[in-house]
Amino acid sequence: MPVEIMRDRGFAHAEATAGGVPLHEIVPGTMQSRIHDKLWLVGEILDVDGRIGGFNFQWAWSTGAVAGLAIARDLRPPRS
Ligand SMILES: Cc1cc2nc3c(=O)[nH]c(=O)nc-3n(C[C@H](O)[C@H](O)[C@H](O)COP(=O)(O)OP(=O)(O)OC[C@H]3O[C@@H](n4cnc5c(N)ncnc54)[C@H](O)[C@@H]3O)c2cc1C
Repeated sequence: MPVEIMRDRGFAHAEATAGGVPLHEIVPGTMQSRIHDKLWLVGEILDVDGRIGGFNFQWAWSTGAVAGLAIARDLRPPRS
């Protein structure tokens, strides 16, 4: 049954945002920007939104872990 949305409850009650940095601008294995060097983007700043129930948390934590490991590798001094 189609349900027409009449209104939302406003920003004060919002729990997740739609929109953000497009995923094609991100290297998925590192979460690093393809546009700006040394910039990693994770979580809700990216154009991903899920249903309430843990998907947004999972996205934030998973991309944070991927980026954190990639940044640690990037900071590691080269082996001599
Ligand atoms: C009321 C509410 C309920 C929610 N319930 C759920 C749920 O049940 N399940 C679910 O999956 N998702 C839920 N969400 C969404 C989920 O919380 C977010 O998607 C997730 O926390 C995003 O994580 P993030 O690290 O990307 O951003 P955030 O958690 O927003 O973290 C960003 C951090 O950056 C800091 N910051 C901002 N500007 C600056 C600056 N200039 N310098 C330094 N620090 C800065 C902020 O203070 C903040 O600590 C809920 C959100 C809200 C508001």
